[in-house]
Amino acid sequence: MFSDMISSANRCFRDSIRVGGTCVLIFFIPLGVCAQYKYGLKPTGYPAYLESVKQHPEKELVDLEHYIPGLVLDIRYATTNNFTGERIYDHAKAYARRPVADALKEVQAELKKDGLGIKIFDAYRPYKATVKFYEVYRDTTYVASPYKGSRHNRGCALDLTLIELKTGAELKMPTGYDSFTKQAWPTTSVADPVVRKNRQRLIEVMEKHGFRVNSSEWWHFDFNGWKNFEVLDIDFDLLNRL
Ligand SMILES: [Zn+2]
Repeated sequence: MFSDMISSANRCFRDSIRVGGTCVLIFFIPLGVCAQYKYGLKPTGYPAYLESVKQHPEKELVDLEHYIPGLVLDIRYATTNNFTGERIYDHAKAYARRPVADALKEVQAELKKDGLGIKIFDAYRPYKATVKFYEVYRDTTYVASPYKGSRHNRGCALDLTLIELKTGAELKMPTGYDSFTKQAWPTTSVADPVVRKNRQRLIEVMEKHGFRVNSSEWWHFDFNGWKNFEVLDIDFDLLNRL
């Protein structure tokens, strides 16, 4: 198969999608594959990850869309609608470690009582994407340092907002996703009482179930046990096969 030949040589550069029954290959700008470990951090790869899950089942990266029915995904890095202007992920998927997924399930159940739901912008992120973001933006107030990696790389961070279950409409928040401004800080005062209440609701429900809001992004939440999970560099392509 032609696609198999391409795959072995260009695994991380391509995605294949079906359009009208035809397999179309899309080539991506490389994420710095050869140079991605130049910051001194050596993330866990696929074989070591599989081994770690055997020893510690809670380390499994869970497919959130299947694990939490009703969750809405808008994975911006699988589109060009993100701050890099490039499609970074080859699949619009959201994964998180099992205890993170369990906590999110509790959040969803609580919000449902009030007719609210969750929209996920990003969850697990391969380390090579963090390197790419840093090399595009450099300001570690808003993008993670590749020397330490992101909590997204550990499968322990979620970017999300609230939606109305009936309409699917996002609740009004102080800024859009990935707005790298002071307005996005959860401590910045908000004049509009509705926006203030929405942000407070999101932060309160997440913190009640074991997350902590990021100090410069109202949409980013770290799971409190993140230190127990390693930085990973596994492409979505491999996770999808499990
Ligand atoms: Zn984030």
